[in-house]
Amino acid sequence: MFAQVVVDIAHSAVGRPYTYAVPDHLCVEAGQRVLVPFGAGNRATEGFVVSLTAACDTPCKEILRALDPYPAIHADQLALALWIAETYRCLHLDALRLMVPPLLRGTDNKVKHEKFLCLTAGVDADASEIGLRSPVQREILRFAAGRGQAFPKKELLDFLPDCNSALAALLKKGILREDARELYRDPIGDRAATTAPSLTAAQREAVRIVCEELRSGETALLHGVTGSGKTEVYLACIDDCLQRGQTAIVLVPEIALTPQTVARFCGRFGTRVAVLHSRLSPGERFDEWRRIRAGTARVIVGARSAVFAPARNLGLIVMDEEHETSYQSEKSPRYHALEVARQRVQICGARLLLGSATPSLTTYSRAVIAKNYRLLRLDERVVALSMPEVYVADMRAELAAGNTSVFSRALADALTETLGRGEQAMLFLNRRGYATFVSCRACGAVLTCPNCDVSLTHHKLENRMRCHYCNANAPLPSRCPSCNSPHLKSFGVGTQQVQEQFEKQFPQIAVARMDSDTVTEKGAYERVLGDFRDGKTQLLIGTQMIAKGHDFPNVTLVGVVAADTTLNLPNYLSRERTFQLLTQVAGRSGRQNLPGRVIVQTYNPQHPVIGFAQAQDYEAFFHYEMMERRKCCLPPFSVFVRLLFTGEDAMKLSALCTDFAMELEKKLLAVLGESGAPALLHLSAAPAPVARIAGKCRQQVLIKLLRTKQLRDALYCIYAACDALDARLRPNLEVNPTEMY
Ligand code: ADP
Ligand code: ZN
Ligand code: ZN
Repeated sequence: MFAQVVVDIAHSAVGRPYTYAVPDHLCVEAGQRVLVPFGAGNRATEGFVVSLTAACDTPCKEILRALDPYPAIHADQLALALWIAETYRCLHLDALRLMVPPLLRGTDNKVKHEKFLCLTAGVDADASEIGLRSPVQREILRFAAGRGQAFPKKELLDFLPDCNSALAALLKKGILREDARELYRDPIGDRAATTAPSLTAAQREAVRIVCEELRSGETALLHGVTGSGKTEVYLACIDDCLQRGQTAIVLVPEIALTPQTVARFCGRFGTRVAVLHSRLSPGERFDEWRRIRAGTARVIVGARSAVFAPARNLGLIVMDEEHETSYQSEKSPRYHALEVARQRVQICGARLLLGSATPSLTTYSRAVIAKNYRLLRLDERVVALSMPEVYVADMRAELAAGNTSVFSRALADALTETLGRGEQAMLFLNRRGYATFVSCRACGAVLTCPNCDVSLTHHKLENRMRCHYCNANAPLPSRCPSCNSPHLKSFGVGTQQVQEQFEKQFPQIAVARMDSDTVTEKGAYERVLGDFRDGKTQLLIGTQMIAKGHDFPNVTLVGVVAADTTLNLPNYLSRERTFQLLTQVAGRSGRQNLPGRVIVQTYNPQHPVIGFAQAQDYEAFFHYEMMERRKCCLPPFSVFVRLLFTGEDAMKLSALCTDFAMELEKKLLAVLGESGAPALLHLSAAPAPVARIAGKCRQQVLIKLLRTKQLRDALYCIYAACDALDARLRPNLEVNPTEMY
């Protein structure tokens, strides 16, 4: 037998599989990790077996040994990795690495064991105690007898800190026995059981279609407002999978992967649930991976990368909030979890269920126009939950009336009423810090980051200026660095300022703020949310962190402090983002028996998107936005490719970028041919919107291509042009980037 092995060296020069002979005494399978001699020095190197063949024409070296007693990667995952390497043009190795936890690397065994003690079978504790002279030994014996069964050695050491030699004596005498057990760290605290409600007719119909009509490899989109019962539909579909002996993966955006979400799945499926998110320790992640692999965990709830979980006999992948940008990986391999999930269900013969209140334009057009996805709807919120009323507050009118506070009169009144009744409220603003920028009133200079081409954000609590791109920070200067004037003034509002103004107006109300500044330490995130849930705080102020997935029954008012922060982003996605955000935020209000209210503050009350959000009319928004996109040939009608070049020297970089763009244009036109040439809508080289970050200059080549049959060839031509560059110069490639700064 011969094995094709991808070695664990992240370099394109050794990216192809190498053939090794499998010695007779070894039994290896595809997907197994092995140790092989590699290179001129025959260094023992780790690698993955990607395939096996019976013959090989050239002489080859032998595999040294297998690193695990089982294949770390299943056959369907191997196929998926191959697809990823091709589709996203990354190293085979990097695609394989996605399938295994980072801790599973190298030759030492990462499985943690814990020592357990117990009385040796047949030993009579009372009789033995008489024969023992050492009081410590007698104490240990009584402890062990009291516990009855095996117990962790750690517990004995906590009870009797200095008993090691006495314990050794007892083990030697054969009175106690010690053994090591595999330790599984369980990241889930609460698995309190809950029961399923009886589903509404609309929910039952959705479940029926997913379970009975959807065929292997097919995708359905469940479109329903927040609170319409989508999660209950997922739970019922997963239950059906489990009953058929299959497993399920549930993807949720990282930010929505709250203890509450996890509790909902654990409540229904108990110990069969595994979780995978970025707050797990490497050890916890490794243990969850082993539980999934072993088949003990059959429902995997996780963020983006859980799409690679080693679930066997996969029946269903659920992707909640499918429109979320966090499903796009921001580092290489730059995969999108939705595309990977579609591929995986096709490989495994599973089904894919997407869910959202505000599907992305691409997804919704695939469902209603191309009809690639089955569309399922939940048009109403479940019993007794009405949609919140949405008011729009015109901030221009506030200013005209002399109100310079961050709160419109409508919002201030609503806060007084709601909080006065003892109910809770949330205030949402997509900008952390105190003020967006600080400028000098004498000379107009804006305080900017020394390393980046951006203004610094004022963080008042620490009284520092902070760069949100490179995190550089310095104390707020007392005088203007350009003209030495003392008249510095801050502009723009951040979450800290909202909190300050609120506390001034409502000194008796307990407030919490949640943004990436306040939840840096481990556990802070859970604590802030827990306090709000328990009513210890009555108002929660936050960035998009609070917009997603939380279900607080006592929240009856949501204020959007400035809808314009997202609406005015220089990005074709800004309207879609704003609509999604306003809808998500509105979904936080009035979840249980109390009616909800939403107040959206804006300087653009006439903007159509604000109107659609106010009416909570997704269909109208979809048709409007599709027209806008068609006018300008934006995705989904076209594909954007952004190549981001970075370098030390602005002039050199700009020259490189311009030359590259010119060459690329020639190559693309050759690939497309005369008839296909119009598909190249745009190709330009220019400085990136933020031309410098952390001291590095940034230039971008933007390419816009019409969706035609030749798209794939055109993309491959772009990939090849990038690959042909020296590794140091190679740009960062993104297809339809979600951020374009
Ligand atoms: P979504 O995922 O669409 O936001 P959920 O599934 O979370 O909606 O449902 C919203 C609320 O309604 C939850 O508290 C849920 O327990 C409850 N709920 C959902 N379906 C039913 C049902 N059929 N009967 C009673 N309560 C339900
Ligand atoms: Zn100045
Ligand atoms: Zn900076």
